[in-house]
Formats: sequence, C-alpha cells, structure tokens
Amino acid sequence: MGGLLSVGSGTMVGVTQPTVVTDPTDLRDSAETLLRSLAGPEARLREDQWTAIEALVRHRRRALVVQRTGWGKSAVYFIAAKLLRAAGRGPTVIISPLLALMRNQVASAQRAGVVAATINSGNMTEWDEIHTQVAAGGVDVLLVSPERLNNPDFRDAVLPKLAADAGLVVIDEAHCVSDWGHDFRPDYRRIRTLIADLGEDVPVLATTATANDRVVTDVATQIGTDTLVLRGTLDRESLHLSVVRIEDAVRRTAWLSGYLHELPGSGIIYTLTVAAAHDLADVLNSHGHRVAAYTGQTDPAEREVLEQALLDNEVKALVATSALGMGFDKPDLGFVVHVGAPSSPIAYYQQVGRAGRGTARAEVVLLPGPEDKRIWSYFASVAFPREHLVRSVLAALDTERPLSTVALEPLVELNRSRLEMVLKVLDVDGAVHRVRGGWLATGVPWEYDTERYERLSAARETEQQAMIDYQSTAECRMTFLRRQLDDPALADAESAPGALACGRCDNCTGVRPDTAVDEQELTATRTRLDRPGIDLPPRKQWPTGLAKLGIPLSGKISDGAETGRALGRLSALGWGQRLRPLLDGPDGPVSDQVVDACIAVLRDWDWTQRPTSVLAMQSPTHPHLTADLATRLAHIGRLQNLGTLSVRPDRPPVSAANSAHRVAALFDSWETPDLRDLTGPILLVDAQTDTGWTLTLAAHTLRRAGAPAVLPFALATVT
Ligand SMILES: [Zn+2]
Repeated sequence: MGGLLSVGSGTMVGVTQPTVVTDPTDLRDSAETLLRSLAGPEARLREDQWTAIEALVRHRRRALVVQRTGWGKSAVYFIAAKLLRAAGRGPTVIISPLLALMRNQVASAQRAGVVAATINSGNMTEWDEIHTQVAAGGVDVLLVSPERLNNPDFRDAVLPKLAADAGLVVIDEAHCVSDWGHDFRPDYRRIRTLIADLGEDVPVLATTATANDRVVTDVATQIGTDTLVLRGTLDRESLHLSVVRIEDAVRRTAWLSGYLHELPGSGIIYTLTVAAAHDLADVLNSHGHRVAAYTGQTDPAEREVLEQALLDNEVKALVATSALGMGFDKPDLGFVVHVGAPSSPIAYYQQVGRAGRGTARAEVVLLPGPEDKRIWSYFASVAFPREHLVRSVLAALDTERPLSTVALEPLVELNRSRLEMVLKVLDVDGAVHRVRGGWLATGVPWEYDTERYERLSAARETEQQAMIDYQSTAECRMTFLRRQLDDPALADAESAPGALACGRCDNCTGVRPDTAVDEQELTATRTRLDRPGIDLPPRKQWPTGLAKLGIPLSGKISDGAETGRALGRLSALGWGQRLRPLLDGPDGPVSDQVVDACIAVLRDWDWTQRPTSVLAMQSPTHPHLTADLATRLAHIGRLQNLGTLSVRPDRPPVSAANSAHRVAALFDSWETPDLRDLTGPILLVDAQTDTGWTLTLAAHTLRRAGAPAVLPFALATVT
C-alpha cells in the first residue's frame, strides 16, 4: 500500500485555504464553512456533529461517536483537525485500519485545505521527511495504520513524539479496542498505551459504526474518565428484513437461484465458508446469473477487480465470505443475502448494513442452515490457542538472542498466522519484545488469562443463541436486531406502543417469499453439485526449519506426489454433505454409489500415465473403508492390488498443527514396501486429506522405494 499523500516528495497538492476564524463565538460558523468546502455548498452540520466538534475543539474533551456508515464521522475529525491547527495546536493523528479505503475522504479533506500525510509499511523511506514536515508544522493530519504501533522503531522513536505534539488523536473503528468487540485486534491494545501517554488537554475522538452497550462502555472508559458519548439510531429505513427457512442445502441453493432476479439492483451473497462461496457461485453461474466468488483466498488484485465490477453493477452479486467487509462502500447496494447465518447479531447487522445506504429500498434475506452451528464451533475453536501452545512459544524464546517468526515457527506447533497472533498478544502483555531481527522473551512472568477467555467464550455463546432466536422470532426483525445492539433510539421509543415495529420486515408485513422450488431448477442444481471430483494440488516445497528437527528434507519437493483427485470437499454442498456421515460414522465397507462416483472421477482424470497398481493408506479411523475402496477400484480397473501402506507399530499418532512438526512426525513412519518391479504409477487411496502432508510424505516414501509416480486419491478433503 503506497502513501496517500507523501509530504515533501513532490506530491503535496497546493490548496487555497478557507478562512478559519478562531474567535470562539464564530467557531460554529468556521465549522460550517469547512463542512461546505468538504461536502459541497448544500451541506449543513448535524447537531451531533457540531456537539462533537465543539467538545473536541473548545473543551478539549474525549468523545466517542457511534454512528452508522455514511453519517459523516470523518467530517467531524477533519473539521476538528483544521480548527485545532488554526488555534495553534499540533497535527491530528488518525489511527485507522482502512487507510487504503480513505483515499476519497482524504481527497475531499484536501479541498478543505487539510494537508494529510500517511505513515505505513509501504512508505518507510519517506518517514524521515514526513517527520521533518510534522515538526515544521506543515502537516494537519497524520494517518497511521494500527500495525505501525507494534513496529519497534515506530513505537520507540516516533510514537512518543507524536503523543507529545498531537493536537487531536482519532481512533477509527474503535470497537477493535475492546475485548468485547466482534473484531478485536491485538494491534489495537497498543492504543491504550498511546492514550495513557497523552497530555490531559489533548482531545481524543473514537469512532465506530457498530457497538452495543458493553463495547461503548469499555471504549469510553479506555479513552478517558469523562468521555462524551454520542450515539445515533441503527434503524435504516430502506432495509426490508426477512428469513427464509429451507432445511435442505441443495433445495436452498436452487431456491436462491430462482429468486435472485427478483432482488433489486446488485448485491452481496454472504456464505460462511470459502468452499460454500465457490460452490454457490458455480451453481448460480451455471444457471445464467452473473456472479463471482470473493473470499480471503482471492488474490488482492483480483479482489479489486471484483469490487469494481460490483460497484459498476457489472455483476448481479459477489458471493463472498466476510473477507468482503469493512470499508466496502456502495451506496446503492440493492440487497444482502446470507446463505448460512453469521454467529452474532453485531456481525449480521454490520453486513446487512452495507445495503440501502443511498437507496429507498433494499432487500435483506437470511437463509439459515442446520450446519451453521457446526461452522460457528469450528471458528470459535481456532480463535485463540490453548495455554500449552502459548507457553511453548515463550519457552522457545531467549532473552538475549532474538528469533525471527520464520525461525520460531518450526519450534512450535502453531501455523504462521496463529503464531503471529500469539506473539502480538504476548507483546502487548509485556512477556515478549519485538526488536530488530525478531522476538525476545522479556522474562516478565506471563499468566494465561483464563477468566478473560472464559468470559469471551460465554459472550460468544449468548450471541449465537441470539442469532438462533432471530430466525424464529415473531417480533419485528429490525426491532429485534436494534435491541440486541442496544440502539439508544429504541429505548426512547419503548414508551410509545406501536412505534417500535419497522413496518417493513416479513414479520411486520406478513409478506414472505414463496419457498416453492421449481423442479427443473432443483434437478439442475443437484446435477451441478453432484458432479464429483476436485483437484488435490501437490505440495511443492518442504517447510522451513526441518533440519532443526533432525529431518533431512529442504527446498523444492522433487520426489513427492502428482496432482491428485478427491470426490469432494467435506465443507461443501453436494458430495460434501453425502461424505460427511460416511466419514463421521462407523468404519465399514464403501457403498456402490460412492464407488461409482470414484470410477467417474478416475475416468475423467487427465493423468499423463495410467496407474498400474492401487495401494491403500492405513487409516486410523476408517481402515476397513479405505482397504475396501482400494480393493474394489483395483478389481474394476484391473490394477494390481498392493494392499495397505502400514504405519510402523512404534509411531505415535500425528496431531501437530504446524507444517514442520507435521512433516517431522510423519517422516519415515511407514513400513516400506518393495516396489522395484513396478512399471507404472501407484494410485494411493485414502479416506480423507487435510493439509496434504500425509499423502506427500507417503508418496515420498513410495518414490524412494522405487515407485515411478504416485497419484493420490481421497474420498474427501477437509478444507
Ligand atoms: Zn419489522
């Protein structure tokens, strides 16, 4: 990400500054003038905008503004920044995770004479220049990404100066500060330290679009002792909420395919998992809808193209996970559909709130599924690692010799992203310290905050229950959501009977979408989802750090598996739904139907050389199933049956979550068969695969024993 505007490198825009009157009686006039230059000649300050500006500029107070997106929170801080500068105060420091998305706001701030500069990881070479400009008083607003706060150079050298000179500190997306927020970020905990270092008379503004009472109280307390809280209503009069309950996943998909054209304009269809986004996009496309999948795994450049296609109404919908989120702003978004319910009312409200910001009517449809709870439990289980894993990170670190994250990874059973999260939390807790070259232990004793994690887990369960209640409530759905989010305007209305109901949702109007599904549509959907077969791409690189674990493997994998095949993804519709009971259930022979599907996949496989033999992996949970499948495939395909690749009796079960540990645990764990007379590839059959390391290591073993090539084949992949 490049700098928005780099001070001192020739990109600063010359602007005529509007006259700013500093006489307190004329403060409001000045604020109105600035607003007009920001937002156009017709713009008028809202009462709450003025109240916030006055509190910050005149009374130097701490303020928390909770208002929906599009209300004008950025106008508050740009106007306050300019007025404070006119009064001789230092620059405003804005901490925001959305710097890339603030381009438009910064451009309009420039029209109002606000000189802005950005500090992020993309413009490090310009920091010195920016600091010089800040010191010389040439900058009004300094935008900083929260990640910067955890950078050692920035934290130790730059931050104290900023805190000393700041005229105003703004914390955007302030719910991230709170443990209770739905989107807590470890980087944000550093903000507490920053605020503690500020002078008493330095005003602070925290802003967010979504926060319930608990988060509001928490954030307000963290930024000051006498914080002014300004909260607006969450009701959005364009939104028409409804819930459509269709138990069967295939039928649900077919229904949506038939219903999509009735939805106004273009919109977003949210799914809970990446696999579901791809499946759904595939089915909808095959039915002639212009949609595309958008997930956390989509390449960043590709994401930009897709967002633009939605902004330009070139697609009917993006089928997206929550990766399409914070900061995406399309005022005329016509609908938000959820196939699968999010796990909390706040997350749900935030996603549906992207619709109808600038239109009179927008449709919001929730299609919950019986599998939602299982997906919520999975995401909850990976939220924060258990104590022994956190302790293993601490134990691996030294107090004098720093270790980089890359060097640390093979020493602990955590993957990269979870390791980084643990390090951030430990850093903020003071147990580790980030220096040039990596991480050091500080020697400060560290306590696993059991109470905190239990408290958060209890809160999560309450939220999940609220989402289940939302699905079955007979009450006005908008009222239900507003109550869950402690909408202050709702409390005012409670005394006036009848004023509560929105009059637009399915419960208010009694109008519900017809859940009948066209039989042709259903058959076409089932056929599409039933096509078995997905690729299993081979692992190409051994994980780093294996040498430290005593394993003689490194670099490119030259003797692993070929591209393999599986019937389907466990998390997906179609075959996923059918394979789950088979793999979750007791061990036993495989059904004819599954064998037929396997044969279909094998028939379509464009291998360079046909396998001449079949070998079953020894499955810890389904040995009979795997052996039976291999035997039947061998029989039908007239392949040599090599039996089962047995695990050495002395090997413990493998459970490591991190690649290096997994490879180390699997290395050399099978009884090596004699394959020297083999003339063609082996079809290596397994029940299910997850990370792919087991099949890769098994293939490696077989190749060394003389197999010319190994073609992995699994019933299902977990991811
Ligand atoms: Zn209603």
